Amino acid sequence: MAAKILIVEDESGIARFLELELTHEGYAVDKAADGRTGLAMALAGHYDLMLLDVMLPGLNGLEVLRRLRAESAMPVILLTARDAVMDKVSGLDMGANDYITKPFSIEELLARIRAALRAGGPEKREESALTWGALVLDPARHTVAYDGEPIRLTYKEFSLLQTLLEARDIVQTREMLLEKVWGYDYVGETNVVDVYIRYLRQKIDDPFHVKLIHTVRGMGYVIKGDGS
Ligand code: CA
Repeated sequence: MAAKILIVEDESGIARFLELELTHEGYAVDKAADGRTGLAMALAGHYDLMLLDVMLPGLNGLEVLRRLRAESAMPVILLTARDAVMDKVSGLDMGANDYITKPFSIEELLARIRAALRAGGPEKREESALTWGALVLDPARHTVAYDGEPIRLTYKEFSLLQTLLEARDIVQTREMLLEKVWGYDYVGETNVVDVYIRYLRQKIDDPFHVKLIHTVRGMGYVIKGDGS
C-alpha cells in the first residue's frame, strides 16, 4: 500500500509542486494550507508522514508539531527557511524527525522522506501486534481495537497500554511507568499514571466489560495473562 503523506504548506505553488512530485513517486497525498487544518487532518487521518512548513498562517509549524506530539509519533519533516537556525533546533527538540531547508531539490526531499518512512516515529518500538483476549494493539499502525471495534486512544494512553502489554504479568510501579511512558525528565505529579489508568479503564474495561488492568495495592499495575 502506498505511504500516505500530508503536506502542510501555505504557498500554493510549493504545495502543488510537492503534490505532483510525490504523487508521481507513488505516494498518496493530501494537502492543508494552514496549521490548524493541518493539525486536525493529521490527528484525524492515518498518515505515514507529514511535510510541515514552519511559517504558516494561524498556527505556525512548530506549534502544530508541539500539539501533534502530545498525541502522535507520526514522522514529521519540517520545511524551514534558509537561515532559520532556531526553527531547526526547536523543531528537532520538539520531535521533528528531520528538516529540509528551502529551496531544496526534490531528489534530496525524496531521499529524506524514504529515510523518515524507514525509521518511523521517534518512539517506534516493537512492531508486531500485541493481543489480550479480543484486544489487539498494533504498534505499526498505532491502532487499538477490541473484537474488531476501534478504540480511540491518545498518544500517552496508547503508550501506557503498550508498555503494560509488553510487560504482561510483571507488576509495573508508577515510577517505572512514568519513566517508560513520560520519560526520565518528566516533572509533575506521579498520580498522572493513575489518571491515565483511569482513562484506559473508561475506554476499555468499562465498555467491553473486561478486567484488563489490575491494581496491585502498594505496588502498581499489571495486565495478567493473555485474556483467555
Ligand atoms: Ca510558508
